[in-house]
Amino acid sequence: MTDSFDYKSDKSDNSELNDVCDECKNEDETVTQNLILTGYKICKSCRTSKTLFPL
Ligand SMILES: [Zn+2]
Repeated sequence: MTDSFDYKSDKSDNSELNDVCDECKNEDETVTQNLILTGYKICKSCRTSKTLFPL
């Protein structure tokens, strides 16, 4: 019984295409680029730390 993410998919049209990093919540132009390239909505620095420390 976990449909608590319903409200998220409702607004996905708008919230998916901003430049806010899912990890650090900072706005960065590299977030959209990384989303296209890697499928992860993260900024450059978070991408680097994920590559070095994939958890
Ligand atoms: Zn980040």
